[in-house]
Amino acid sequence: VHELSLAEGILQIAEGAAQSEGFARVATLQLEAGRLAGVDVHALRFALETLAPGTVLDGAEFQIEQPEARATCIDCDEQVWITARGDACPRCGGYHLRVIGGTELRVIRMTVHDA
Ligand SMILES: [Zn+2]
Repeated sequence: VHELSLAEGILQIAEGAAQSEGFARVATLQLEAGRLAGVDVHALRFALETLAPGTVLDGAEFQIEQPEARATCIDCDEQVWITARGDACPRCGGYHLRVIGGTELRVIRMTVHDA
C-alpha cells in the first residue's frame, strides 16, 4: 500500500529529527502533499495514525495541505497554477505545460514537546 510506505518514510524523518534534536514527541506535524503527488490524503492520515502509537508521532496532530501544482506554459511563457495534469493554461488556454512543482510529499513543519 502506497500511503503506508509514505507514512513509514515520514515516521523515519520524525524519528531522525527526534534523535538529532533531542525531543521525545511530536505535537503537530505539518505535511505538504502536492496535487500531482498522487497521494490519497485520507489514506495517508489513516496510515500515520496507525503507525503513531509507541513512536515519536504518538498523539501528534497531522496537518496535511494539498497545494496546487505549479507549471510553466511553453506557449505564453508564464508560470501558472494547475490542479491536475492535463489542465489547460489558465492564461492562454494552451496545453503545452511543463510541471515544475506539486509532485512531492514533504514535511514542512514540526512542533515538538520538549523532553
Ligand atoms: Zn499559456
